[in-house]
Amino acid sequence: MSSETFASLESENIYSCFNSDAGLLTLQGSQVELRRRLDALFCSWAEVVGAIEYSFPPVLSVYSLDLADYFSSFPHLATLTTQIDSNNEGMKRFVDSTRNERLTEVDQNYLTPARYVLPSAACYAVYNHLSNKKLQNDLFITVCSPCFRQESIYKAGERQWTFHMREIVCIGRQETVRNFLNTYRQLITEILDRAKLPFQLREATDPFFDKRDPALILQKLEPLKYEFLYRDRLAITSLNFHRKFFGDRFNIQDCTGEPAYTGCVAFGLERWLSACIREYGQNWENLPAVLQKKEPEVRSQESGE
Ligand code: ATP
Ligand code: ZN
Ligand code: MG
Repeated sequence: MSSETFASLESENIYSCFNSDAGLLTLQGSQVELRRRLDALFCSWAEVVGAIEYSFPPVLSVYSLDLADYFSSFPHLATLTTQIDSNNEGMKRFVDSTRNERLTEVDQNYLTPARYVLPSAACYAVYNHLSNKKLQNDLFITVCSPCFRQESIYKAGERQWTFHMREIVCIGRQETVRNFLNTYRQLITEILDRAKLPFQLREATDPFFDKRDPALILQKLEPLKYEFLYRDRLAITSLNFHRKFFGDRFNIQDCTGEPAYTGCVAFGLERWLSACIREYGQNWENLPAVLQKKEPEVRSQESGE
């Protein structure tokens, strides 16, 4: 596809119903199927390292994310959850106040303090789950979860408040994590080449922790993040090397008793969906063979925690 054709498709709405102003996207029929097939494809890539699939609760405690400096690094992204306060007649006052009106918001006076967060990346739940553990082996885990990011501008299918992220995560010794990230850098490059999906692999400069953190100085020596950009503008997958950051903060020890290194490969499902729809149309059967995966198969194994 020429870049001119692409530019004209950009302004075209490929999704039939969505609320793009609020960063919310509705999919239907073949779009849902295509997203499911893409996720199955990523699961098959997770099998390359024998990753175990996990399903975590969709919320994380404020406490656990604060361990990772989340609220100083990413306060702008955070979406917090609260409940209607059932103490001190609060529930009754709230119900009384709603009798004669249709609600568009709930006044904060009726709400409990926020103790849980809808996370902005799937892999935080992995580090939280492994906190205070000593690993018997280096671990590979895959997880898919809804993610929430307050962004300054939204674009349907590309930049949303809510979207889905499939991650493959490695936790263990430094060498294992480096090899893991190299494996996926090569694997994804080769598959995108074979699919002829236009992409660039780029070093990224927005890390997962505080920009003031001295660990960032290391990034000048060694890239901590790579991104696969679709048509040179849209990050569809990132490869992240966290060094010992999460191992230290969550007190995860590798099999030698040292703080564990971690790395993750993160796939934005809706961005992949949008790229594939633009390149190949909505029907998953039109995907190049190398991007087709008939059945989701994630191997279940004994965990080495
Ligand atoms: P960008 O620079 O485009 O904001 P990012 O560097 O913030 O991307 P990551 O933090 O690496 O993205 O997130 C992993 C993946 O999640 C991205 O490669 C992308 O596919 C997806 N993603 C990130 N933010 C959004 C969003 N707001 N809406 C949809 N998908 C997203
Ligand atoms: Zn991650
Ligand atoms: Mg971003």
